[in-house]
Amino acid sequence: MNKQLIDFITENYNRLAPPVRVIQSGEGAYLKIDGKKVLNLCSSHYLGLAVDTRLRKAAASAVDKYGLGTGYRTLAGTHELHVKLENAIAKFKNAEGAIILSGGYLANMTAIQTIFGKDDIVISDELNHASIIDAIRLAGIKNKYIYKHRDMKHLEEILVVIASDGRTSDQKILIVTDGVFSMDGDLAPLPEIIRLAKKYGAITMVDDAHGEGVMGRGGRGTADHLKVAGQIDLEVGTLSKAFSVMGGFITGKKELINFYKQKSRQFLFSNALSIPDTAALIEAVKILSKSDALVKKLWRNTNFLKKELKKAGFDIGGSVSPITPIMLGDEDLAVKFASELFAQGVFATSIRFPMVAKGKARIRLIPSASHSKADLEFAINQIINVSKAL
Ligand SMILES: *Cc1c(COP(=O)(O)O)cnc(C)c1O
Repeated sequence: MNKQLIDFITENYNRLAPPVRVIQSGEGAYLKIDGKKVLNLCSSHYLGLAVDTRLRKAAASAVDKYGLGTGYRTLAGTHELHVKLENAIAKFKNAEGAIILSGGYLANMTAIQTIFGKDDIVISDELNHASIIDAIRLAGIKNKYIYKHRDMKHLEEILVVIASDGRTSDQKILIVTDGVFSMDGDLAPLPEIIRLAKKYGAITMVDDAHGEGVMGRGGRGTADHLKVAGQIDLEVGTLSKAFSVMGGFITGKKELINFYKQKSRQFLFSNALSIPDTAALIEAVKILSKSDALVKKLWRNTNFLKKELKKAGFDIGGSVSPITPIMLGDEDLAVKFASELFAQGVFATSIRFPMVAKGKARIRLIPSASHSKADLEFAINQIINVSKAL
């Protein structure tokens, strides 16, 4: 290997990073790790679909029928299953159209890079997901502003500055936010963002990775939950969290989606979702479109977990979604807490700097529809025990 490369890696490798756990089972309510069964409170498979029999069957029979891979969407890769999935997502979201990409990360790249360039302006919440930040970088947007987390007064101050600096008529302004913030579980104030965007002529974008399948009526997302469905210009979601497979999507007006399908570099120069992924996702969207039973179960579990943790005296922050942080503050304490919980049969990850600010370390719990009440009671007991021991 190149000497400079070896030196670079040696210097920058983090020897203190905790080892990555290797999962030896499906990602259901429980996981098998190192041969041991542990309660799964850390994956984002909110609805338990990662091990759902209906999705497995749909994937298996599609593989039987069509095989595995397809290709580039614009060459010979657009399969009728892709079209079916896009139509199903658009219908589920009550949008005119949808485009699927092979990841939520790539969907953010597409959403921003295809439309915005170096002379445009972006205003972004300080806690936005890394993939939004990377998408802004990729687009080469020079005029970047960051507003304090969910702070609408600050957002408007920035919009006023931009207006008074003399924005040219072809300069686009983008206001971009997560729908549900992945570390705190709080929501973007979308109605207020939309109001400000209208007032100052800005384009709105929401990355609702943790909101799709979770928030709103039957899991239709944070915009639906906040009663502004259809009012966001660019709505991005992932197919890897509540939908439990992989991929990402953008929904919006027909012209917008057609534009993306013609111009998005991530769409044009990267392969389409595989046959089994696509078939399983069609089934997932079908399940959600037909019934809100799983979403309701997720919320029953969420409310129970939060109520019991509060009763036991834990600080669970300001979450209004299933993402349930247990605020600990100290980084070492969070690591110890997680490893002790693991020893007691509960797998929940510690979240530390740089994922959250220094001094805001926490354990993040994510309940799902696949948990029973007994599973959660077990988790709560172990959390109380570990907390007492530490
Ligand atoms: C998980 C996540 C993504 C990335 O989605 P993938 O499908 O895993 O690529 C993007 N944005 C947010 C807010 C996320 O939480």
